[in-house]
Amino acid sequence: MLRVINPANGTAIAELATDTAQSVAAKYRTARAARSAWAQRPLAHRLACIRRFRDGVVGHHERLAAILTSEVGKPIRQSHNELNGLLGRIDFFLGAAADTLAPRTVFDADGVRERISHEPLGVVANISAWNYPYFVGANVFVPALIAGNAVLYKPSEYAMLTGLEIGNLLHAAGVPQDVFQVIVGAGEAGVALLAQPVDAVFFTGSYATGAKIAQTVGPRMIRLQLELGGKDPTYVCEDVDVAAAAASLADGAMYNTGQSCCSVERIYVHEQVHDAFVDAFVKEVQGFRIGDPTDESSYIGPLTRAAQLDVLQAQVADAVAKGARLLTGGRRLDPPGHWFEPTVFSHVDHTMSLMREESFGPIIGIQKVAGDDEAVRLMNDTEYGLTAGLYTKDAARAERILARIDAGSVYWNCCDRVSPRLPWSGLKHSGIGLTLSTYGIETFTRPKAWHLRSP
Ligand code: NAD
Repeated sequence: MLRVINPANGTAIAELATDTAQSVAAKYRTARAARSAWAQRPLAHRLACIRRFRDGVVGHHERLAAILTSEVGKPIRQSHNELNGLLGRIDFFLGAAADTLAPRTVFDADGVRERISHEPLGVVANISAWNYPYFVGANVFVPALIAGNAVLYKPSEYAMLTGLEIGNLLHAAGVPQDVFQVIVGAGEAGVALLAQPVDAVFFTGSYATGAKIAQTVGPRMIRLQLELGGKDPTYVCEDVDVAAAAASLADGAMYNTGQSCCSVERIYVHEQVHDAFVDAFVKEVQGFRIGDPTDESSYIGPLTRAAQLDVLQAQVADAVAKGARLLTGGRRLDPPGHWFEPTVFSHVDHTMSLMREESFGPIIGIQKVAGDDEAVRLMNDTEYGLTAGLYTKDAARAERILARIDAGSVYWNCCDRVSPRLPWSGLKHSGIGLTLSTYGIETFTRPKAWHLRSP
């Protein structure tokens, strides 16, 4: 049984029967049997199903937002934002799929034609995270289904009610039961899924789990994508509007209670504006309302996973012991629920776990730098490489600096931003492969080369 806990107050809100190794194997077999018929449906049919899924999300918006908030503790306004953002992603895929998946003739002369077609991969395992279940799930299952794959979807155990709702909505929209199936359970269910001879594995989650999956799946020579964590830096130059940069970055660090893969996790500030920036940043953070996530005015909610409280406490203790200055927050709040105060440190350095290991919570370190070279060196001094950003009025300086940064996405005067039109990828421990953009449709296919000579 899987007990679903409301992280805001620690109460159990549901008990779900979990899949066993046998039931996962049975789901795999039915997906395998169903996948060819789905692939042979015209693309227009599969697109129509996804369009009806979109309508279902719109029609059930209030209920879906409430469920999401109840199981992950996401402040309700942010749950609404996630659902609205989902619609934009679906629209992108609906609009871009036909061109992206169309066969392409790349040569045609002297009786020889060369063509590339996009064949579905087959049965795709989609193992997902809880922090943005609609976003990270839909980045995979929407284009995977459109491209003609069957999907075995393993939501996070912390977002299982949402995962089951997604299944219901897809089925109601016309996606056959066997073509999209939800696997219920925690890590063991993921292990059972990977024991099946699936054709591809798309994983979103932590580096630690991603590394285990890479070891299991690597020798099988199937498509493997891993979208993992980050320790995303931002550099604030001396020419900025300090108040505006502080407001933008406080939001980038604390939105979703700091539990975004692309949350701002480290800030480097030019020494000329460091003190003013720190003051403005702390004021912003102290203005954030912590409270009941079902309340429209709450901005900071509980942490979804209780275990993360220990990680944050350890980072705080380590930073304090090494001389960092605690400017606000720093404590977990009393139970019930998994609450941690939004926390800001200055006088930090790279000996501290706060500046090296993913925090995944409402905590941030701000470090003073002498100039661009030091900022670039520190930003690249990480095992991760998901996103990185820069605030300056000088476009040429931004281009120069961002070109030197090792990250999948770079931001100028913005942060914590994902666009369906752009590829979403990470370097180093942030993963391999990508989702979103037209590449994120192609990735659910394998290109087949056709050499055609007229008789
Ligand atoms: P997690 O690694 O704990 O779990 C992710 C999924 O893997 C869950 O569904 C879990 O049940 C499953 N799982 C656990 N052990 C497994 C195993 N041995 N084999 C197969 N499956 C297994 O991660 P999480 O706590 O759900 O998510 C948070 C992490 O995800 C953070 O590091 C965050 O940065 C990252 N993330 C990355 C992106 C991105 O796009 N790069 C997006 C969202 C979250």
